[in-house]
Amino acid sequence: MNQPAPELDRAVKEIADELRVRTDRGEVASYIPELAKVDPSAFALVVVDTAGNVAAAGDADTLFSIQSISKVFTLTLAIGKVGNRLWQRVGREPSGSPFNSIIQLEFEKGIPRNPFINAGAIAVTDVILSGHQPREALGEILRFVRFLADDSSIAIDKAVAASEQRTGFRNAALANYMKSFGVIENPVEHTLGVYFHHCAIAMTCRQLAMAGRYLAQFGSNPTTGLSVVHPERARRINALMLTCGHYDGSGEFAYRVGLPGKSGVGGGILAVAPGKASIAVWSPGLDASGNSRLGQIALEQLSKRLGWSIFGA
Ligand code: GLN
Repeated sequence: MNQPAPELDRAVKEIADELRVRTDRGEVASYIPELAKVDPSAFALVVVDTAGNVAAAGDADTLFSIQSISKVFTLTLAIGKVGNRLWQRVGREPSGSPFNSIIQLEFEKGIPRNPFINAGAIAVTDVILSGHQPREALGEILRFVRFLADDSSIAIDKAVAASEQRTGFRNAALANYMKSFGVIENPVEHTLGVYFHHCAIAMTCRQLAMAGRYLAQFGSNPTTGLSVVHPERARRINALMLTCGHYDGSGEFAYRVGLPGKSGVGGGILAVAPGKASIAVWSPGLDASGNSRLGQIALEQLSKRLGWSIFGA
């Protein structure tokens, strides 16, 4: 059931008030130098329910780097482009490994475990790129995110993209390794360029929660009523978010929060309560798996308080 808006407002406000003052925040990502500049005390929580109510607290209108959350949008686009053929290039199993791990790729002949670890997301980006110039592919991704969020102001933070391009040696290793197995079709530097740039999309929590509505709404955009993806695809993207969206912390997230979710090293998490709401949270400090520490706690509290876990109250 959707919660009456006042109850939702109260829950979001009270959780944000409690978490904004906590000091056990984890570490801000610094392996992408530009991300280390972010204010570690920032915090935002926004819920958009399927009735269109918006509950927002904290720095809900501050832009941050969505990083790996973009992988949900690129997965949606790639499935739309090639359908089930995507699964010849990438698997659907949790990896149990860090997001930038290379270890399984050798055993599994260059096929990444799932679309959300870096190797898998790079392969998905390559699918979107095929048949296009990098600039066109990036334009398509950005247009899609703007359409989902109903907001044409969304843009790429070029400084973040350049910062990762300069330092993304592990991602270059993953891409080259996959290329040696024929899993990457395009020139590695083109695929990586598109990947780094879509990870560098900057959004606010409010924009992100709006962009996630199609996953909470069985594949359709509530503003226009138009279908974004078939309901079956929305269900499956949610399944992948639940099982793989937090890397080697995915089991813990499912246990504590009980919702499909996707994290990014910018400290954002997009979570979905199917049929109920799209939720975005942002707190830049990360745990050892690269997932927002307070973001996970906020979602755990929200889902418990509103009875939104997909596994029951
Ligand atoms: N762009 C980042 C990287 O490739 C994304 C990682 C993340 O958000 N988990 O390392």
